[in-house]
Amino acid sequence: MSIQTRYGSLADRIEKACLSAGRDPREVTFVAVSKTVGPDEVAQAFSAGARNFGENRPEGLLEKSPRFNDATWHFIGNIQSRRIGDIVAHADLVHSLYQARHADKIDAAAREAGKVQDVLLEVNVSGEASKSGLAPDEVEGMLEHCLGLANLRVCGFMTMAPQGDQSVARASFEGLRELRDRLKTAHPACDDPRFMHDLSMGMSEDWREGIAAGATIVRIGRAVFDDAFE
Ligand SMILES: *Cc1c(COP(=O)(O)O)cnc(C)c1O
Repeated sequence: MSIQTRYGSLADRIEKACLSAGRDPREVTFVAVSKTVGPDEVAQAFSAGARNFGENRPEGLLEKSPRFNDATWHFIGNIQSRRIGDIVAHADLVHSLYQARHADKIDAAAREAGKVQDVLLEVNVSGEASKSGLAPDEVEGMLEHCLGLANLRVCGFMTMAPQGDQSVARASFEGLRELRDRLKTAHPACDDPRFMHDLSMGMSEDWREGIAAGATIVRIGRAVFDDAFE
């Protein structure tokens, strides 16, 4: 099966999953995670309609994003201080912010670049030691820190579920949605409709659970680009 066919089939299945969850498919952004492939494969997905791509290394953003200016680029990887300038220059949305010192540096780089950087706060909902992100009880403090930074906009939250068990994935996605709802209610003064709206949750193996739990963004790599998947 080609990348075009796989992308198209997933886009259809995502739309159906939205409808069966009683959700408007336009509320859910399908990010094709292109971190393991080059520009040729990105072009194949683009030709099938993909307009959102995810990269986990700054090098990937630098290489691919300038060739696809009509696409939206998502940075989903580990943030390193010295690469923040490159990330801010090329990413439309950063999914993986969880350290206050990185928030300060992103804000400064965005101010210098004349933009407001959209970010999601990464939350380790499941508490797995191997996962990065804020503990749920640290999120409000980080949010308040970010609210003081004029060139940063917290559009929402991202999490990664433990692998394997779909019901555990579903529970951690539900946990993130409840956290978003609670914090949004606690900050009624912020009337930007994009503020704390997004929930980036669901990958190749658990995007259905993400959509059922209220994801507005799913990040799918192997199911689009890897011939051996499924
Ligand atoms: C690689 C990656 C994905 C995509 O994972 P697949 O299992 O290939 O769909 C999603 N989110 C993050 C943060 C990733 O690093």
